[in-house]
Amino acid sequence: MKRFTALLLIIIFAFLLCSCESSKSDIYIDEMYALDTIITFKVYGDLEEAKKAVESSKKEINRLENLLSVNGDGDIKKINENDDAVSVADETYALIKKSLDISKKTDGAFDITIYPVMKLWGFADKNYKVPTQKEIDSTLENVGYDKVKLLSDNKVSCDKGVELDLGAVAKGYIADKVSDIIKDSNLSAVINLGGNVVTVGKKPNGESFTVGISYPEDTTDYFCTVKMEYKNAVTSGAYQRYFDENGVRYHHIMDPKSGEPIDSDISSVTVFSDDTALSDAYSTALYVMGIDKSVDFVKDEDNLSVCILNKDKSKLFVSEKTAKNISLQDEYKDIEIVII
Ligand code: AMP
Ligand code: MG
Repeated sequence: MKRFTALLLIIIFAFLLCSCESSKSDIYIDEMYALDTIITFKVYGDLEEAKKAVESSKKEINRLENLLSVNGDGDIKKINENDDAVSVADETYALIKKSLDISKKTDGAFDITIYPVMKLWGFADKNYKVPTQKEIDSTLENVGYDKVKLLSDNKVSCDKGVELDLGAVAKGYIADKVSDIIKDSNLSAVINLGGNVVTVGKKPNGESFTVGISYPEDTTDYFCTVKMEYKNAVTSGAYQRYFDENGVRYHHIMDPKSGEPIDSDISSVTVFSDDTALSDAYSTALYVMGIDKSVDFVKDEDNLSVCILNKDKSKLFVSEKTAKNISLQDEYKDIEIVII
């Protein structure tokens, strides 16, 4: 009898050990610093496969950062340093084309020729300064998406002095490339690239993933959660990058027409869609456009959905498609939800 009890205990212990290990291998968590932000991976499935997929993702992020960032050594740097037409990779050409199309659709609220303005305000090298009106006026002579020409054979030509900055769209594009890698490995995941959240598949229990949207000014807290119906959620807001001078806050989302940080009536805008580059570009564009124009614009767009928190954080404008999936956290229940 004693031997039987001992055997039973060994079996129970072995079972407990197995179940602990299998629940551990269900989720693989990792992070890296790239694209000027912390990128987090939460991957569900086989632990070894997840690890491999995350390693490939990290390589892809580094490759694309080099290709698409103003600080890299690839296509964007080549374009910015040359006055003549420059031949670029297919994917760079396609992303610039997509960006110029969005500029046209948003009447220039979104404009990748913003880089000279970013440099002027010190956002390029973090040597922040408030420029004079004269400096702003002369810098604006080199801003305007009509100063970029897409030629045959993947050639891009910019007017002299024009420089590109894909900072408002590249993270989204890269997020989709990473999600393809995870998907090809038959894993599911939530990946957060500094405000660009992309999901792959469903939770292990078959439910959709839920993401939290940061409360502006306190990014450790989130004011609502959204059950994901679309693939991604991308948030823009002035609180994400700024400097203060003489009691005034200057942030990183510029009005391409005035060459100054836009004085928006939005505190944060989140765009949901199945194309993360698109969500990324539109979250920036809508922030520039403000609430009224954004609400009008979004009504005509079938492939995206939004939630927009107004400046005093009292109202949340939510697309009808997303309203059923959104829930306010207890301490933010006073926010009025306005369905658009
Ligand atoms: P996001 O964080 O996606 O809203 O993008 C902000 C970044 O995009 C800035 O740090 C700039 O690099 C760039 N940017 C700023 N203003 C604009 C604009 N109006 N259109 C396109 N890109 C912009
Ligand atoms: Mg953006």
